[in-house]
Amino acid sequence: MNQNLQTWLSSQIESLKEQNLYKPTFVMESPSGGRIHVNGHSNLINLSSNNYLGLANHPKLKAAAIKAVEQYGAGAGAVRTIIGTMSLHVELEQKLAAFKHVESTIVFQSGFTANAGVIPTITDSDDVIITDELNHASIIDGVRLSKAARKIYKHCDMTSLKEALEQSAEAKKRLVITDGVFSMDGDIAPLHEIVDLAKEFDASIMVDDAHGSGVLGGGRGTAYHFGVHNEIDIQLGTLSKAVGVMGGYIAGTSMLIDWLTQRARPFLFSTAHPPATAAATIAAIELMETDPSLTQRLWDNAAYWKIGLRNLGFDTGISETPITPVMIGEEAKALDFQRALFEENVLALAIVFPTVSRGKARIRTMPSAMHHLEDFDDALKAFEKVGKKLDII
Ligand SMILES: *Cc1c(COP(=O)(O)O)cnc(C)c1O
Repeated sequence: MNQNLQTWLSSQIESLKEQNLYKPTFVMESPSGGRIHVNGHSNLINLSSNNYLGLANHPKLKAAAIKAVEQYGAGAGAVRTIIGTMSLHVELEQKLAAFKHVESTIVFQSGFTANAGVIPTITDSDDVIITDELNHASIIDGVRLSKAARKIYKHCDMTSLKEALEQSAEAKKRLVITDGVFSMDGDIAPLHEIVDLAKEFDASIMVDDAHGSGVLGGGRGTAYHFGVHNEIDIQLGTLSKAVGVMGGYIAGTSMLIDWLTQRARPFLFSTAHPPATAAATIAAIELMETDPSLTQRLWDNAAYWKIGLRNLGFDTGISETPITPVMIGEEAKALDFQRALFEENVLALAIVFPTVSRGKARIRTMPSAMHHLEDFDDALKAFEKVGKKLDII
């Protein structure tokens, strides 16, 4: 072992611990659900999964995955552009395009990878990327991989976006990128206004809809929710959150998808999804298409949970979606809150810097369609007890 590296690693880790930014990893010993087993504790109320609709452990998805393993095996054996494309991958992309009401889609290994795949592939050194300051880390990394210049606008601030567009008039192409639903606050990007500004300045738009996928617009995402899906050039969705499996995709015109198929590096240089992943995802899309009750239950549950927290006096921020932050502030206090909740049999994890700004630490709660109202009632009792003990309410 190189001692120089080891010493550096050890000082980095120490520094995280001193700043209360070091986070232990919890280990789940059951399927993802409303109640889970974690670190040897059973039946914890789970308020931290992105498994919004409960699809991750749905019998139809499991059956589809098992059947695909029997029919096609465990792995794809190559990258998509060599001989890793199986009929299941093609079927999934066609299903997704129909579901999203777009011409075409391309599936990547994850939402993170989709951002790394698309952003550098559709921009060049004479372009400008204009990006919301609170966009997801994978957008930030995708932008870093691009040769284009970048401008960051203030969060959902249309005056700031307009300034950035005005200042990039000489660019060959302009690309505005925003999250559809912001993952830490649960607010929704003002897509109507963004579409208007983009038109005025001849810019294209990309919406990363990881937390909108399966949640807004009957599962079709934020653009569909606002009825602007024909005006968003690039929609990114994830198959790893509400859709319950794993993957990310880009939805857009056939020309866009054709180009990505030729040039997006994760598509060219990283192996295709296992057949079980594609098959389970197909089953999930079919469920979302035929059974709107899942999304309805998610929103009803989210409303119940939010009202309960607010009645207790918690600050749930500016959320407009099921993502429900409980604002705490100090990092150390948020971690104390998380620990105390765990002792009360509630798993609700703290989110601290660098995922959110310093001093804006929070417990991010994710109500889902899997929860029963009694789960929320029990969790509210725990939040009340801990909130009083730590002087939050
Ligand atoms: C979670 C998330 C991603 C990454 O999606 P994965 O499929 O989990 O890789 C990308 N963008 C946003 C906005 C996200 O919230």
